[in-house]
Amino acid sequence: MTSTKYRPRTIPITEIEQSAFCRSSSNLKSKTLAEELKAGVRWQTVPAEYRTLESDQVVERIQAARSKLGERVMVLGHHYQRDEVIQFADFRGDSYNLSKYAAETKGLEAVIFCGVHFMAETADILTDSDVSVILPNLMAGCSMADMAKIDDVEECWDELTEIYDDEKIIPITYMNSTAAIKSLCGSNGGIVCTSSNATKVFEWAFERGQRVLFLPDQHLGRNTGLKLGIGEDEMVVWSPFKGSGGNSLEQLQKAKVVLWEGHCSVHTRFTVEQIHTAREEHPSVNVIVHPECPQDVLAEADMNGSTELIIKTISEADSGSKWAVGTEISLVNRLAKEHPDKTVFCLDPVVCPCSTMYRIHPTYLLWVLEALNDGVVVNQIKVGLETQQNALIALERMLRVS
Ligand code: SF4
Repeated sequence: MTSTKYRPRTIPITEIEQSAFCRSSSNLKSKTLAEELKAGVRWQTVPAEYRTLESDQVVERIQAARSKLGERVMVLGHHYQRDEVIQFADFRGDSYNLSKYAAETKGLEAVIFCGVHFMAETADILTDSDVSVILPNLMAGCSMADMAKIDDVEECWDELTEIYDDEKIIPITYMNSTAAIKSLCGSNGGIVCTSSNATKVFEWAFERGQRVLFLPDQHLGRNTGLKLGIGEDEMVVWSPFKGSGGNSLEQLQKAKVVLWEGHCSVHTRFTVEQIHTAREEHPSVNVIVHPECPQDVLAEADMNGSTELIIKTISEADSGSKWAVGTEISLVNRLAKEHPDKTVFCLDPVVCPCSTMYRIHPTYLLWVLEALNDGVVVNQIKVGLETQQNALIALERMLRVS
């Protein structure tokens, strides 16, 4: 067996910044960009005149710039965006549905994706080649996607295919991954999944192979494997920082699922203790969490499911019901505001937004809109042709499964 080179462990900058905007009060109101930058974060530089604009100036100028552009431009807002950004979204949704809306809308010149980098890549893959996809702040990555670098994954893939030799291993990547990882899956008989269809995608993979490499979220992979009756002892975690991912040959030969050592910095903040506290304080509470949370949290919760399922469940719940939610705070606060007849609160008492989603300050949206009005496309996300074609294969396989 070849052995993976030792690499020093690096924490994605996106994860280091995770606590920069956490606070104990629920006030997440945006400040001027200059004030937010004082937290010491490494965000993209914008022209100086934008940095000190007050919120009402930003709102007025976004409205003006947006209406001049008309229907040539679509603004997409991921559910985890701050309210000050989401108010300008033509569509709100999860990453895949937003890209689908954009792909199905004809006559667009540009799509402004208020989300994170991998989402803009997916929109570029799915939309026509003459549509420019724009990410307002190029530093808006995703800590989970950043944990699976293509060179590390290629090295892992080579080693696993050598070990398993004539047994087939199917690579599955969660939507929250770079286009390069989706492309690797597409060109090696693999597939993409979302948190809604992960179970079906696993079943598809096990009809075609004996093992699965799941990227990049170990928690979604483990939670899905357990749902399908795969034992914890048949799943191993592959660390890119250790030789052979930190596993013995025997462990790898026994494994049905190899889980990449990645996680979401937001969803791994939720704990079993928080669930106990919520139940003590609200005896009739329903606990619903996202499957990117650790396995013990899912086991303790009443329900788990994708962002869309969480929204649907709470929207359709009885008036007067109580919901403790394990997902991103901007969405939880919005659900609470939109359903005043229900009690909706975040499991985590510390108000901690997804720091990478938070990088889309409304001022960045203004900057890219005004540039478009001047005929300039800034921050275009363009995926290379070969990567695009292979990633599309993996995405289309997912569509057929769903
Ligand atoms: S919530 Fe987690 S997975 Fe989603 S963009 Fe933020 S860091 Fe990435």
